[in-house]
Parts: sequence; C-alpha cells; structure tokens
Amino acid sequence: MTRNHPDVTLLAHNYVRPEVQDAADFVGDSLELARLATRTATPYLVVAGVDFMAETAAILNPDRTVLHPEPCSSCAMALRLTPGDVLAARAAHPDAAVVAYVNTSAAVKAEADICCTSANAVRVVNSLDEDEVIFVPDRNLAAYVAARTAKTIHAVPAIGCCPVHQALTADEVRAARAAHPGAEVMVHPETTPAVQAVADFIGSTAAMIRRARETPAATVIVGTEVGLIPRLERDSPQKRFVPASPYLVCPDMKMITLELVEAAIATRSPVVTVPEPVASRARTALERMLALPEA
Ligand code: SF4
Repeated sequence: MTRNHPDVTLLAHNYVRPEVQDAADFVGDSLELARLATRTATPYLVVAGVDFMAETAAILNPDRTVLHPEPCSSCAMALRLTPGDVLAARAAHPDAAVVAYVNTSAAVKAEADICCTSANAVRVVNSLDEDEVIFVPDRNLAAYVAARTAKTIHAVPAIGCCPVHQALTADEVRAARAAHPGAEVMVHPETTPAVQAVADFIGSTAAMIRRARETPAATVIVGTEVGLIPRLERDSPQKRFVPASPYLVCPDMKMITLELVEAAIATRSPVVTVPEPVASRARTALERMLALPEA
C-alpha cells in the first residue's frame, strides 16, 4: 500500500485484520513495533493498532508525524488505569519501582520508572535494582512475572486485565485439546493463571511465532487474539492453527480497517499528539526499556 507513498511507513500489530497486516510494511507485537518505529526513516508513520501503540510511536519519534487511522480504537485494559492510581500505589509502596506494561496511556507511562511488554516483562523486572515492583495494569502478566522472579510484585489495579484474554477459560482449553489430540497449546501471559497452568507454552505473540516454527506438533491451539492465526499460517504453512476459543477477538483492534488506513494515508490524518511534559517523561520510561539488550 505504501509503494505509492514512499514517505509513509505502515506498522501493523499482530491482532489487526489480515488484510491490514498484508498491506503493512512491518507486522509485529508491541515491542517489535516500538523498536521498528525508531528504526524507519520516513517522515510519516501510520500505526495500525490501538491508541497506546500510536501514542508510543509518537512519543519515541517527536520529529515525525504519527497517524492513527481510528482514534476510537482504545485498549480496554489501558483505560482501567489512571496516573492517580500509580501515584497512590507509590504512596503505599514507597520502596518499589513502577513497571508499566506498554498497554497504558502516555499519562500513566509518565508516572512509571520503566515500561515493558509481554515479550520482555521478566527481563525488565529483573534488570531493576529495587526488590519490590509495582506492576501495572495487567494482573495476569504480573502473576506470570511474579512466578519467574525473586522480587516482590504488587499488581495494580487488583482488577486489571485484558477482557479478551481474561475471557478464555481452562475448560475451553481442555475442550480444544480433546478435540485435537496431539496438538500443542500456546497461550499469552495475559490469560489467567488457570489457563496458563493447562498450556504447553506461554509467550508473547512474537514468542508464539517462533515456537510455532520449532514445535514438532502438526496442530497448534492458539490462546491469544485470533488475528495472530493468519500470521502463524503464513509463517508455518505446513502446520494447522486453531483458536482456543472463537471469542478471542479484540473489537478495538478490528476497528482498524483497510479503508481507514487508506484514508489516513490520503489525508495525512488523524495526527497523534502527546503533550509535554507527559511525552518527555513517558519517553524516559520507554527508552529505558528499549536500552535493555535484546533477548
Ligand atoms: S487484546 Fe486486550 S490488551 Fe490487546 S488491545 Fe485488545 S483489550 Fe487491549
């Protein structure tokens, strides 16, 4: 799509519609998109994903213009947490560092010490000097990290979760396994601990793509947003991928249509702006994450 617009790079998340992924210059998870946003040179970046992803690209690229095709496309988990919640948690745990999952608003990132994604959350937490960590806003990812670190993790808010991944049940996973004997079950760390306990592999979408290439299983049950499945099929065409549940659909990711992407490129709008000093403070937390060595 951007062949006719050499001044534009289109970045798409693994969860957006397959036709948008097909049109993109790069497709990836949150960490890959954050890194790619800083490694491309075009004056315009179009982010096909939810609003925090476009904000992140704008924060990391203050000299470039970032377009978000549908500003109404917001992460329901990010909406559950305010900067005031972070400040209250800091007051309750004054010795703790604050780690903000990238699925947060710019205003929340501005109150954090460092950001993380599902791909690097354990490494980020273990990189800190502090023995206590306030982890926002996904309680399931917080529990996943807590099981893999010696540090004390305070999950804030106690109800924080992704409604899409939270809805997957261990019974649905068991039913999918029974329907596909011999299949490997991969789930995202945003799923509940009960679901993670019955999975064979837990990882970010990028980790799932790598695991899908390596597994000897001919069929893989996928416990994350269904948008990843066409990507897995393209990447490992000899294998079969089935959703752990048909309900693993993020409506906000699906708001990003090809028509809206085309309109954003044609009109060079809507432009994403993050005001100062929020942008500078959020950039510090993001750049601290990006400065960690890649796994
Ligand atoms: S899948 Fe969940 S975490 Fe990802 S954008 Fe949708 S609501 Fe947010």
